[in-house]
Amino acid sequence: MFDLIVVGAGLSGLQAAYTAQQAGLRTVVVEARDRVGGKIWSVPLASGRGYADLGGAWINLTLQPRVGAYVRRFGLKTETQRLKGRAIMQESANERFEFPFGVTPDFTPEEKKNLEFIRDHIQVESLQPGPPRVADDNVTLDQYVRNLGALPKVAKMVNLWAQVMHGLEASEYSAAWFIDYCRRNRGLLAIRADDASGGQHLRFQDGAQSLANKIAKLVGPSNIHLSHPVTSVNDYNTHVTVTTTTGKTFTGRKAIISIPSTMYRELNINPKLPPRVVEVTNATVLGDYNKAIVCYDRPWWRSEGFNGYFASYAGPVILGRDTSVEASRHYSLTCFVNGKPGREWSKLRPHERRAVVLKQLAKVFNAAPDGEVYKPIEFFDQIWQHEAFSRGALAPVTALGHYTGFADVYGKPVGNLHFVGTEYSTEWKGYMEGALCSGEVGASEVVRSLEKYQRANL
Ligand SMILES: Cc1cc2nc3c(=O)[nH]c(=O)nc-3n(C[C@H](O)[C@H](O)[C@H](O)COP(=O)(O)OP(=O)(O)OC[C@H]3O[C@@H](n4cnc5c(N)ncnc54)[C@H](O)[C@@H]3O)c2cc1C
Repeated sequence: MFDLIVVGAGLSGLQAAYTAQQAGLRTVVVEARDRVGGKIWSVPLASGRGYADLGGAWINLTLQPRVGAYVRRFGLKTETQRLKGRAIMQESANERFEFPFGVTPDFTPEEKKNLEFIRDHIQVESLQPGPPRVADDNVTLDQYVRNLGALPKVAKMVNLWAQVMHGLEASEYSAAWFIDYCRRNRGLLAIRADDASGGQHLRFQDGAQSLANKIAKLVGPSNIHLSHPVTSVNDYNTHVTVTTTTGKTFTGRKAIISIPSTMYRELNINPKLPPRVVEVTNATVLGDYNKAIVCYDRPWWRSEGFNGYFASYAGPVILGRDTSVEASRHYSLTCFVNGKPGREWSKLRPHERRAVVLKQLAKVFNAAPDGEVYKPIEFFDQIWQHEAFSRGALAPVTALGHYTGFADVYGKPVGNLHFVGTEYSTEWKGYMEGALCSGEVGASEVVRSLEKYQRANL
């Protein structure tokens, strides 16, 4: 019998396993996919020019201490986000303007003042300690900023933040969830920043999945069972069994479930989770958080003075960044196709999705019809809603009123089952750092509860 069975080998599951092993627990990890990493997935380019990060990519070594420690320990090489050059805002299908990166785009003085007021209000709120407010949980983010007096253009900008940050529209989730997310992640400005003060400062030269692969090595490949989707989890009070679609059954004293809460309903958990846990987790949603990564022979946008960053109200790409890695001559624009526009785009066939993205890039960069923009050397797209073992991204979001209403049960242990995942993290929730943090916390919970159990039986 194992001391601990971990379901899922994303970063939270791997970290939970490693922390538990370090405390001396005999641990096994059961993963559905044929790889570790979950929502971090780096695919090698056919040209040999590095990797396309189809999931998580950006990190900050100082603000995110767990990621920082691993990067140093494993000697992983990083690339600083390139910011030099002009950015672009696409206001509608045929209107775009360029602006110096880092300044508020071309708003009227009244709109600029209004945007700064709303942004500063949320920033101040997101630096306050304490739990989210019930009143803010019953109102959508969109309504919240309109109640603060957001002008239409500013409400549109807030919607863009929601799409970029969570793959949802601002009218689809609560202000409390949004503000608390910022609170756990060092404030709105740190989340939005692409320089050393924020979450998008660096990327992994050899792909983000290298982090998961290295942690998996620490856990020990023989302790990780890949390609074993879990189909049922039984808590018998004295022990737990975890059964896979491949017919294997693992027996342990405790289990950690590290899959997104939106997917608990797909695991046959017996006895059933308490009704309030079922109610809150059944109502969580995952956003439409998709990437199209367009790789070129050379970074043509730089020679025209652009830094590759653009945002768009027109969509379907709502934000793009230069994700090149000089050392491997990898030159790419990563396009986020999120929220409602992403939902529509994901229904298209692959060649249509590619055509739509290239056409939009041409408009955004004001490129000629025969321009280099239309001549990528490789093109990747990834729709996380289509992934059977993710069903969307970035992290599950609770329904209106649920974040505060179910805080006493959401993510809390039930019998011998413990729950981890980036969604539960108190630091950098939604990020790789958050997944590591939650895995660490969940494993410590298990270690403590097993110690108690042992003492009770002495
Ligand atoms: C497009 C995109 C961009 C992102 N950008 C960033 C970024 O720039 N920076 C950043 O820090 N983070 C980013 N993230 C978020 C980051 O990737 C996640 O927060 C983190 O990887 C989540 O880890 P997790 O362990 O909580 O969940 P997951 O990675 O979802 O892990 C869950 C694991 O459980 C497995 N599983 C599911 N069902 C079963 C089953 N039935 N049986 C067994 N196993 C199962 C899955 O295969 C998976 O391996 C991004 C994510 C996406 C998708």
